[in-house]
Amino acid sequence: MDMKNKQTQFQALPGVDTLLEKASSDARFHEVSRTVIVASIRGVLDELRSKIAQDVPVDLSHARILDKAAQLALQRESFKLVPVINATGVILHTNLGRAPLCTKALENILAVARGYSNLEFDLATGKRGLRYRAVEEIICELTGAPGVMVVNNNAGAVLLALNSLAQGCQVIVSRGELVEIGGSFRIPDVMEKSGCILKEVGTTNRTHLRDYTAAANENTALLLKVHTSNYKIHGFTKSVSTPQLAALGKEHGISVMVDLGSGTLMDFSACGLPAEPLVSDEVAAGANLVTFSGDKLLGGPQAGIIAGDNDLIHKIRENPLTRALRIDKLTLAALEATLSLYRDKELARNELPALKMLTMSSEETLERANILAGEIQKIKDQGADGIFTELSVAQTWSRPGGGSFPDLLLPGFCVSMRIQKMSVSELDQKMRKSSPAVIGRIEEDRYIMDPRTLNTGQEKVIAKTIETILRNL
Ligand SMILES: *Cc1c(COP(=O)(O)O)cnc(C)c1O
Repeated sequence: MDMKNKQTQFQALPGVDTLLEKASSDARFHEVSRTVIVASIRGVLDELRSKIAQDVPVDLSHARILDKAAQLALQRESFKLVPVINATGVILHTNLGRAPLCTKALENILAVARGYSNLEFDLATGKRGLRYRAVEEIICELTGAPGVMVVNNNAGAVLLALNSLAQGCQVIVSRGELVEIGGSFRIPDVMEKSGCILKEVGTTNRTHLRDYTAAANENTALLLKVHTSNYKIHGFTKSVSTPQLAALGKEHGISVMVDLGSGTLMDFSACGLPAEPLVSDEVAAGANLVTFSGDKLLGGPQAGIIAGDNDLIHKIRENPLTRALRIDKLTLAALEATLSLYRDKELARNELPALKMLTMSSEETLERANILAGEIQKIKDQGADGIFTELSVAQTWSRPGGGSFPDLLLPGFCVSMRIQKMSVSELDQKMRKSSPAVIGRIEEDRYIMDPRTLNTGQEKVIAKTIETILRNL
């Protein structure tokens, strides 16, 4: 293309004002803010200019430019954090936001956050109050601990507790418990950041009480026990129990802290699941401090809960780091509502989505898989029969996730699917890029959707998504 031609093309580009004028009477832009419209139009014009400069053929019609601008505007205005459909069967999926909240928690967030609240205001005295008060009583009641502190998440709880109680001092941990949770949380690293001196004792598979005894000295501030929540060591193993550690701590005047990770307030073994350590058991066993997450097996919002002796809790509350890690009012509202359900364990099991999914029977997953398969079958019956090379209900296993029950596979049923002329990974990608996004699993060259983690009603949405994908083939 010669220079003259290029020049003509540049000159033919419409001005922003002209396009804005047109956009003002275009329904696609009615809900879009002016700044976004201007930015989108500029974006399209910039792209056209660079194409002209590179001699790439362009369509300069106003209609085409506005089409592109409308697309851009839609992208810009749409939220980046969006709900997705979890068909993976991983219940506490950290990448998908861990525990879904119960209705009571959602309602309480709305009630508290819509206006003002007594977040840090004591209604009895009219003076400043503590935000932890909202959940103090219920956590003490549910765990048996005398004192409570809550922060942003459990990693924060561990960091804060270590820094408050053991900065510059030695903290003794078994080599079998130097855990890593999801890459960024590693006990040795947290220990270093909190200013403590990590004293490893024992070996990876075996640690004895005498190992702790031999390591304890006048500079030891804590005996730390970390729940190996996301792995298990089998075979020739030995670890020291909380009552044993507590007895040793008492003898030497050293506090015992237990990082439980996913602390549970309910005995899951009553529902046929393996026993996970209960927060109340650890407290009863003599732990001076227990830390656990709000959004793992507890089934609530992201939070870090510290339950323990009052003198330790007071020291923690006085640490300036508390401000940096503080829990916000939305979380607090959700946490209080979630915890309140645990006063009646049956209610907790029925109302907390994560617990419901965890304790869902295999028969119920079969029923749900049949509903989902039925919805997809309707598309098949409407003429897409040949497109499906497989649509069946099959046996599968769901996972608790979130670093809980590491060995546990929950038996159940799923919908297994294959589509003609489309690879399974291509289907997976199309499902993921739909709106709402559907996240499934790929197993043995099949696309798997696990109904355990679906909400009622999402079966229809998934079927609609598949229908749209097939229509655009
Ligand atoms: C998950 C976990 C943590 C981190 O908790 P978050 O709430 O994710 O910050 C810490 N310790 C243990 C043992 C865990 O399992």
